[in-house]
Amino acid sequence: MNNLVSLNVNPCKMCMPMGAVSALCGIKGCMSILHGSQGCATYIRRHMATHYNEPVDIASSSLTEEGTVFGGEANLLKGLRNMIDLYAPEVIGVCTTCLAETIGEDVNAIIKKFYAQNSGISVNIINIASPGYGGTQNEGWFTALRAILEQTEANMTHNGKINIVTPQISPADTRWLKGFLAEMGMDFILLPDLSDNLDGATEKKYRRLKTGGTPLSDIAAMAGAKLTIEFSEFTDEKDSPAEFLKNAYGVPLVKLPLPSGIRGMEKLIDTLTEAGGVLSEEAKKERGRYLDAMVDSHKHCAEARAAVFGEPDFVTAMIRLCDENGIFPVLAATGSVSAKLREMFAETTIMDDSDFAEIEKVCIERDANLLIGSSDGRRIARKLNIPLIRCAFPIHDHVGGQRVRILGFEGSLNILDKAANAMIDKTETTFREELYGQFFKTQEKNNEADKLRRFAVASTTGAMVDLHFGHADKFYIYESDETTTRFLETRSVSKYCDGSASEKEDRWESVIRAVADCDAVLALRIGPTPEKRLQENGIYVITTYERVETAVSLAAREIKEKRTEVHAGS
Ligand code: SF4
Repeated sequence: MNNLVSLNVNPCKMCMPMGAVSALCGIKGCMSILHGSQGCATYIRRHMATHYNEPVDIASSSLTEEGTVFGGEANLLKGLRNMIDLYAPEVIGVCTTCLAETIGEDVNAIIKKFYAQNSGISVNIINIASPGYGGTQNEGWFTALRAILEQTEANMTHNGKINIVTPQISPADTRWLKGFLAEMGMDFILLPDLSDNLDGATEKKYRRLKTGGTPLSDIAAMAGAKLTIEFSEFTDEKDSPAEFLKNAYGVPLVKLPLPSGIRGMEKLIDTLTEAGGVLSEEAKKERGRYLDAMVDSHKHCAEARAAVFGEPDFVTAMIRLCDENGIFPVLAATGSVSAKLREMFAETTIMDDSDFAEIEKVCIERDANLLIGSSDGRRIARKLNIPLIRCAFPIHDHVGGQRVRILGFEGSLNILDKAANAMIDKTETTFREELYGQFFKTQEKNNEADKLRRFAVASTTGAMVDLHFGHADKFYIYESDETTTRFLETRSVSKYCDGSASEKEDRWESVIRAVADCDAVLALRIGPTPEKRLQENGIYVITTYERVETAVSLAAREIKEKRTEVHAGS
């Protein structure tokens, strides 16, 4: 059935508006409104609030049945007015949703109408087409950044700055990036900058609208920069802010991988050095410390087989970091569709448009022992008992999502330490079991082979196995290791075939108790119910008509072979 149904059980992605709203949190004085039903805003708010541990305000045009049938213009016009009255934003991002796109809302026309009805307002309203089904949060992120660039009046005055465009990275990594660029002496514009807005300091007075983020004037000035560095190898021409700046204003561009691991960092350092930057002495020391840690951790990391999941740029950065540290990346899974990933990593199983149910199967097939991604992998981690390094959005079950570090030498070191420690923990908690399996199971198996086993035989005189189990009023108890068979004793029991059903039940119990220390019962015949009851109590049932000692000796061999098979399979 599974083969016939195209069904996502637990997709490894979130929808476009999630990315669009997240990116807009890095724009100064910006508020987002989702044009669609309330649930979309609730879903996104909930994810962002638990990951960043910050209150996140997202407005909704709250389309109901009426808006769905007759259009949502009235709701959106009212929503925009309310936002301006309550928040006084400088920028409003109107992000569409599945519903608004499906009913074909003309958001541009609604925004024009709003401006016409509200002359004198200075807010910049950006139309962002982000149908939930149109892509993942990664596409939503870049679509929003591109839309804001396209819909902001450009300032083409040459300013000698470098534009830096990032995919979704943590506030802590954003702070590191700003510091690193400044340390190298770069004059830059960062788009977006969510370092303060999604990881703010406690203030005495609560502000509805956060004060951090990239100002609109800086976004306008990106048209006059000398270079754009876009930290993404996967944005296509229609989504890429850097491509837009190049095509519209002739700003040269470089697409770099996320600066994680030695190679990611070297590429960034080379590009910045070419642009006039100078690597600081402190950065050189950090590089040296990372190299030192790589050597220290290598013996532990060599055991790791990592499954990495998330957005393509994150996955690529982590796979490269794994590679350079001797961690075998067995699986790279993204929610996006990317042929490029396949070309990049030939020995890694690549899953795009993936689902956690499928990821789990591949983790088993490829014997993964480390997960790297968001907290969405926690169910697989728990089920397969594999450690999970939570370092991507969203993290719901731990605090500190806003402080996760993966970039720079220190961020890379953070992941490296976690991977190495996960392997050390695994060794610490499993080595006894492994040693036992390696050295003592064989011994146990030998003991198993040599073991004396006990048998209860139903026999009229003790010479032949000639009695029905239910007719026996005593059992002859023997011990045998196949080669030596010896009689131990007789045990009397009452015959359970007489009397009422309840008495019969009692007698079965008493018979089973009488032979409970035996490995098998030998009888001429036995009814299905007592046979089942004996088996449930771990006692084999062997029916035969044979001399007692021969039957016991053959039974000992049969049981030894069965037990040996079980041990070999365990
Ligand atoms: S997938 Fe569509 S309906 Fe669901 S939250 Fe995203 S935009 Fe809303």
